[in-house]
Amino acid sequence: MSLSNPLPFKERVEQALNDPFLRQSLKNAQARFREGKQKAGQALGNLEEWRTRAEAIRRHTIEHLDYYLDLFATNVEKNGGTVFFAETEQEAVEYLIRLAKEKQAQTVIKSKSMVSEETHVNHRLEEIGVEAIESDLGEYIIQLAKEMPSHIIAPAIHKNRKQIAQLFSAVAGEELPEDTSALTRFARHQLRDKFLNADIGISGCNFAVAETGSIVLVSNEGNARLTTTLPKTHVVMMGMERIVPTWEDLDAVLSLLPRSATGQKITSYVTALTGPRRENDQDGSEEMHVIIVDNGRSNALGTDYQSILHCIRCGACLNVCPVYRHIGGHAYGSVYPGPIGAVLTPVLKGFDEWEELPYASSLCGACTEACPVKIPLHDMLIDLRRDEVGQKRSPWIERLAFRLFGAAVKYPALYRLGLKMAKYLLRPQAGEEGFLNKGLGPLKAWTQARDFPAPAPESFREWWERQGRHGGEPHGR
Ligand code: SF4
Repeated sequence: MSLSNPLPFKERVEQALNDPFLRQSLKNAQARFREGKQKAGQALGNLEEWRTRAEAIRRHTIEHLDYYLDLFATNVEKNGGTVFFAETEQEAVEYLIRLAKEKQAQTVIKSKSMVSEETHVNHRLEEIGVEAIESDLGEYIIQLAKEMPSHIIAPAIHKNRKQIAQLFSAVAGEELPEDTSALTRFARHQLRDKFLNADIGISGCNFAVAETGSIVLVSNEGNARLTTTLPKTHVVMMGMERIVPTWEDLDAVLSLLPRSATGQKITSYVTALTGPRRENDQDGSEEMHVIIVDNGRSNALGTDYQSILHCIRCGACLNVCPVYRHIGGHAYGSVYPGPIGAVLTPVLKGFDEWEELPYASSLCGACTEACPVKIPLHDMLIDLRRDEVGQKRSPWIERLAFRLFGAAVKYPALYRLGLKMAKYLLRPQAGEEGFLNKGLGPLKAWTQARDFPAPAPESFREWWERQGRHGGEPHGR
């Protein structure tokens, strides 16, 4: 099954560009997150040292992933939990469905989990008659709207109060005020009963500590604690790269995650779970199942893209990306939007459905600079483009254009001829200001949104030759 939104990429982008609310709210949110991150980074003092240390931890872990996964799984089982390695999305969901049937589950409550989005868990549970309810406020909103998350850490960033009030009013059966406190109160009231009556709780996993087999969750709403402790069965869905070797390593990456994400020193809740409830524990689930999901992650191991598995899902790259600012998360079509999604999605799923994503970037490098674990995102985007070209995936007209350009720069006579032809072909299309705004063929899409300068009446070469020969004054354009 695809991760995708069914519309073609260009239509998704068009839709987003024609939504002024979306663009304004993304601009505001990016500014808020960026400012928060900057202050939090300054408070940390030597941010670069922290980044270097975090990058080293992630690199070491992924280079020895088989060892640490084995250690983690052994420790989870020692603690009384059950571990299932799912190679594919299908295997992960089938395990969950088997468990739901075994427990005769009617209702499942979920805290935020990108892996469960990636594997379409809600949809698959609904198919067998199990109600799956999102308990993270942002996820709850987009579940009611039947949409995908549009940001890794703020899934409903594209919704305003009015839209949320409409969604909640439909559930309430009466008109609710467009007031943040009233709306939050309503959601809390709705969800509280669901927590108490759910048969299974599904959580994600921000980090899995190998040395003790513990799951660490960060949240600002406390819903993760209710999800993991109230239902009798707790299922953890984690990407296989979520591992950190030790608690000391966790300290480094956990110090960077909320600072990079929202500018917080620490989230309101940091929850660590080491196995299910023990004999004298006050609360906790009776069973803990950990589903470790590969789903294409192995494709990155041993390749130029291995370091994409270092990602700690902070969203900082989205918060600085000028492309994300204009098109938002849904335009990417994947549950992972922004620069991380533009790299991760084709790596996980191949180019067939995702060949446009590596091009959804200005290559300004802001993502790489913002990344707390120093993933060279913009280099990887270039590498992905190179791979696509190597596989001859670009349109034939583009390939022909580059072949001609290659020949032109190799042979000076051809280059000069090309310049002359461009001048005669393109200058008549230019407006009064000297820019092409109605380009032909492949230039059309470019000139819809940008100014393309028409070739000068006299090229630099022509001017230079004339100067050399006659020593005269250069002509203006
Ligand atoms: S790629 Fe880096 S900045 Fe982007 S989400 Fe992952 S860790 Fe954060």
